[in-house]
Amino acid sequence: MSSDQVVTRFAPSPTGFLHIGGARTALFNWLYARGRGGKFLLRIEDTDRERSTPEATAAILQGLTWLGLDWDDEPISQFERAPRHAEVAQQLLAEGKAYKCFSTQEEIAAFREAARAEGKSTLFRSPWRDADPATYPDAPYVIRIRAPQAGSTVIRDRVQGEVTIRNDQLDDMILLRSDGTPVYMLAVVVDDHDMGVTHVIRGDDHLNNAARQMMIYEAMGWDVPVWAHIPLIHGPDGKKLSKRHGALGAQEYQAMGFPAAGMRNYLARLGWSHGDDEFFTDDQAKAWFDLDGIGKSPARFDMKKLENLCGQHISVSDDAALRQEAEAYLAAAGLPALTEAQGKALETAMFCLKERARTFPELLEKAHFALVSRPVEPDEKAAKALETVSNGILSELTPQLQSASWTRNDLEATLGAFAENQGTKFGKLAGPLRAALAGRAVTPSVFDMMLVLGRDETLARLRDAAGRVGSN
Ligand code: GLU
Repeated sequence: MSSDQVVTRFAPSPTGFLHIGGARTALFNWLYARGRGGKFLLRIEDTDRERSTPEATAAILQGLTWLGLDWDDEPISQFERAPRHAEVAQQLLAEGKAYKCFSTQEEIAAFREAARAEGKSTLFRSPWRDADPATYPDAPYVIRIRAPQAGSTVIRDRVQGEVTIRNDQLDDMILLRSDGTPVYMLAVVVDDHDMGVTHVIRGDDHLNNAARQMMIYEAMGWDVPVWAHIPLIHGPDGKKLSKRHGALGAQEYQAMGFPAAGMRNYLARLGWSHGDDEFFTDDQAKAWFDLDGIGKSPARFDMKKLENLCGQHISVSDDAALRQEAEAYLAAAGLPALTEAQGKALETAMFCLKERARTFPELLEKAHFALVSRPVEPDEKAAKALETVSNGILSELTPQLQSASWTRNDLEATLGAFAENQGTKFGKLAGPLRAALAGRAVTPSVFDMMLVLGRDETLARLRDAAGRVGSN
């Protein structure tokens, strides 16, 4: 690994699904690394043994996979690295940068009580900080960092700017508990250092932690990573995103049928901008993404914008890829899978489906004509449309189509001429023809459907429909 290689990481706590805020954090880290030939690593912060579950880890990995955010190397389990975290605490102790503290819970509570009564800061000041080791009792102890007491700690954050914290507001935080387990704050720093993380891009709910984490970097003499604390995502009402605002899990968006490329584009725009660009490809996002483009105020989640971007991505996606993603959507939504023949038909029809579909349910609804097999049952609207023509018209049309060459131009000409002969306009025939071919009122164009279905199937459907309508 060259020393100037960018290394980012996503460090979720596996206590639930991958929520939309986490997905955005992961995306920012992924874009930053991928745009710079860097590495994007994954660390599962599973030290909270009661709340962490393997199911949650699996759900997070699945969510990232759906979003196409591939990571380098094996995901790291923070819990498994506990011995290494403890080793660092011991090293700081040996170097005098940390000390053993024998204060009991009761003593700490009494200290705080007294400080409160005197109107002083309740930050605990351990009497063991400068104690002579000869006076150490044979009792349980924690290891505390020897925090600087004067001056201030400055976090140079690429999003928030310079954040200064007075050192007298920081306590000698615990590094190692009396049972020998490391605290979370120590684990994060040791892991980020050992993983070679150069840029920490994460939610600004962690900004306060950065000051405490800096103390550990400095005590160890390690390079401090570039910090970028990104504002959280808010709902359309400007309040912090919550269940009230609807779906929170990344995979819920898959089950709603949003394409991953559209989701990536939308999430990238959620808090980051590149001029006025709204729609962009992954390659553009990787080339453009930088920390300077991240806004300081919280972004608002906007479903309409997500839908619009998704529609644009569907319209430019490759047909085979769309078929694959539509089939994955059906599985994610717990809907019946397509047969092989239906899958092929979907792909063949894709050219006339992808123009205006914003989601896979919309795309599949338009695809109904290609997925259904005869006899095509008209829905209510289609049945009404069919009532506007006589079976005579449909039966007269079939021989003309029999001899037409099956190209868009010829079909347009044939149907135009046919309508004229009937003393009507093609527009009047389109509704019943849609109904006959698709059993639906909203479909791709009649010509596109005919091209996809082919001559035999088209004629068979027209005959079926003629059999349904009366001879008025
Ligand atoms: N595990 C933390 C979280 O899920 C992230 C910690 C970090 O990024 O440093 O919020």
